[in-house]
Amino acid sequence: MRISRRASAISASSTLALDARVKTLIRSGADIVNMAVGEPDFSSPLGVQSAAVAKVQSGNVRYTAPSGTIELREAIGAHLEATRGRRYGSDEVVVCHSCKHALSGAIQALVEEGDEVLLPLPAWVSYVELVRLAGGSPVEVPPEGGAKPDLAALEAAIGPATRGILLNTPNNPSGYLWTRADLEAVCALAREHDLWILSDEIYNRLVFDGAEFVSPITVAPDLADRIAILDGASKAFAMTGYRVGYLAGPQDLVAAVARLHSQTTGSPNAVSMEAFRAALVEEPPEVQVMVDEYARRRARLLEGLAELGLEYVRPDGAYYAFPKVAEYCDERGVQGFCEDLLEEEGLALVPGDAFRLDGYVRLCYALSFELLGEALERLGRFLARRRAQV
Ligand code: PLP
Repeated sequence: MRISRRASAISASSTLALDARVKTLIRSGADIVNMAVGEPDFSSPLGVQSAAVAKVQSGNVRYTAPSGTIELREAIGAHLEATRGRRYGSDEVVVCHSCKHALSGAIQALVEEGDEVLLPLPAWVSYVELVRLAGGSPVEVPPEGGAKPDLAALEAAIGPATRGILLNTPNNPSGYLWTRADLEAVCALAREHDLWILSDEIYNRLVFDGAEFVSPITVAPDLADRIAILDGASKAFAMTGYRVGYLAGPQDLVAAVARLHSQTTGSPNAVSMEAFRAALVEEPPEVQVMVDEYARRRARLLEGLAELGLEYVRPDGAYYAFPKVAEYCDERGVQGFCEDLLEEEGLALVPGDAFRLDGYVRLCYALSFELLGEALERLGRFLARRRAQV
């Protein structure tokens, strides 16, 4: 069967592929500590589970509008007012099958053939492929020191074909939390050069040590006609398998995404929408318990990385760290580093080139405190051997 050029040109998500490989190894009995997975290791809150069960048992699980139920869109609007300082009406929100689905819909709706989209690096694995799938050209802009957006470089990268910028705060893979000053600068660029901003805020609830999450819409409410927020249930509520997310932004973009989805995926999952609504309305106490536990693990991980002498930009959010390991890599680069680490020590990390930055590795600390200690020991042994080889 001949596969279209469009589909052939798309590579599979390298993090999902790596995760599948690691899980197969674990099933075959290998002793592996998996720090490659990017998903919470907690159950979703009890209130969420009950809402899903109640919806199933209501016997009323039917198609809804392609943009999702009005009740969930209203709950999202109220949630955004509380957390981002701007209330979105129900016609400014489209519920999607996930945050990834919201991103793909937004990019399909905004990007024309040949348009350039700025991607501050490191960038989550799917961004480049989603822009290419829409016929656009991703313009990758390296950061300062492995994580901090380089605003001068972003400005220098703007050309006649630049249409928008896709940013992610807190960032996967670095955990970097965009500061108010970063966002003000990027919003000034959008204002001056007539760009849209897609802001992937899927980790916004996972911030630590009193750090403040800020959204571009909060610093620049005057740009509401060109900023879209992308978020969902997966991370803060440990609801990855429910597959529900949303886009909030200008009405014409929301309507375009709903039109696209009406022809491609149809209305979102009615059970997941009820569960997500319960999560937003009830504010389950389990969320703070999870955040506190991530904070404890983060402190342990950062202490361990410092003891190993690895450099990193402090991750204030999400559940990742992104240290530099370039001096431990041979000619196979960071891919070879991760392969050897998996082979020799049974520790799975994601090579930074998956996020378009070589010389770094992503460690996910969504795993138990005990396993975290074990992972640091394995990493320490591996680095000591590498140091001895150099
Ligand atoms: N955006 C970023 C930056 C992510 O890391 C992820 C998941 O890993 C997603 C979006 C996707 O979230 P969802 O599960 O809602 O598709």
